[in-house]
Amino acid sequence: MPPTYPRGANLEQVKWQNRAVVLETLWRFQPLSRKDLAERTHLTAATLTNIVSELIAAGLVHEVGLGEQLLGRRPMMLSFAPEGYMLIGANLSRTELSIALFDLLLRVHYVLIRPINFRVGSAAETLIHLIGQVITLSKVEPARVLAIGISSPGPLSVEQGVIYAPPQFSDWSNLPLGRLVEQAFNLPVWLENDANANALAELWLGAGRAYNSFIYVESHSGVGSGIILDGRLYAGSAGVGSELGHTSIDRHGPRCPCGNYGCLELYASGPAMIERARTLYHNEEPTRLIHLAGPNLRDLTLDHLIDAALEGDSLALHVIQDACRSLGAGLVNAINLLDPEAVIVGHKLNRLGELALAPIRDVIQQQAIPQAAARPNILVSQRPEPVAVTGAACRALSGLLHRPDLLLRSI
Ligand SMILES: [Zn+2]
Repeated sequence: MPPTYPRGANLEQVKWQNRAVVLETLWRFQPLSRKDLAERTHLTAATLTNIVSELIAAGLVHEVGLGEQLLGRRPMMLSFAPEGYMLIGANLSRTELSIALFDLLLRVHYVLIRPINFRVGSAAETLIHLIGQVITLSKVEPARVLAIGISSPGPLSVEQGVIYAPPQFSDWSNLPLGRLVEQAFNLPVWLENDANANALAELWLGAGRAYNSFIYVESHSGVGSGIILDGRLYAGSAGVGSELGHTSIDRHGPRCPCGNYGCLELYASGPAMIERARTLYHNEEPTRLIHLAGPNLRDLTLDHLIDAALEGDSLALHVIQDACRSLGAGLVNAINLLDPEAVIVGHKLNRLGELALAPIRDVIQQQAIPQAAARPNILVSQRPEPVAVTGAACRALSGLLHRPDLLLRSI
């Protein structure tokens, strides 16, 4: 592909870009006065006033009363006005399909959860059926649903709405899910990598609200991550964006299925921690884990390890904290590269709080460039329930706010 250069925008594009900036800024920081909005968006007062009037007339924004002001007139505050418009979020995980109906303030109105192998036809037909069920059972007027967001394990193409071949996810492989769902409901659909969607959910609803740049990282069947830069999800040139789990922390380490050596995921994913616990168990004294996972830790899960660590089990704590030190080593690379304001540790390690954060923080303090290491706050995720599907809804909302032409046309 030939190189691209910063592109100019014609007047029509500038008009829509300005509306997108106002919508996104108001959503994230509401309530705001017109003056606050003009300052945050760098738009002139006149341009801002015109855009706000248009958004009020469209029923997307409303005045919510006077705000505080130390001197002079108290300003009229503006907020998002959902007016009954809705979004669908759908999350595909390796265990469950979760579909939920949200309003434009991302408050959940209806949730449907089925096991991942639930079928009423092909995988895509099943998802379409369940989305239809959510619309019917929630009694929302179908015309009020504006968009659908789908989050899934990768690899996938955000641009083309195609899930490629995630490991242990065969029914959903090589599936143009975005197009199929779009055709079934005649609505805009955004497909997103689950960790990226979760990073967005942290930005809009969770621990990332106070930050403009952060790295989100989560450990489950792999190690997922999402990067927020300048208040936006960083997508990368090929939609791969951020795969912290496949950055190497030991080039002499074992070969990873991705092709690299010593990938972070080989040390800090759920399966890696389970394997490590089984290996160490044979050499160490008894552990609470055998009560949870049976002889030889046969049925051990990451949840068992976390539960036992919370109860002070020394083997579980050792395994998890060592994995967290590996996460720290991976994060040192990312912090030295990106200099973010925060690192947010998500599902499921967030349940451990400081038990997970302290070893991550120690490695960052010891190994990152001092100026970069001093900066980021290391926090646990705070996404609201239903945790899995909130990211998908955030992706649909961010897609809509970023395309105000679509949004205004559909209301
Ligand atoms: Zn790898």
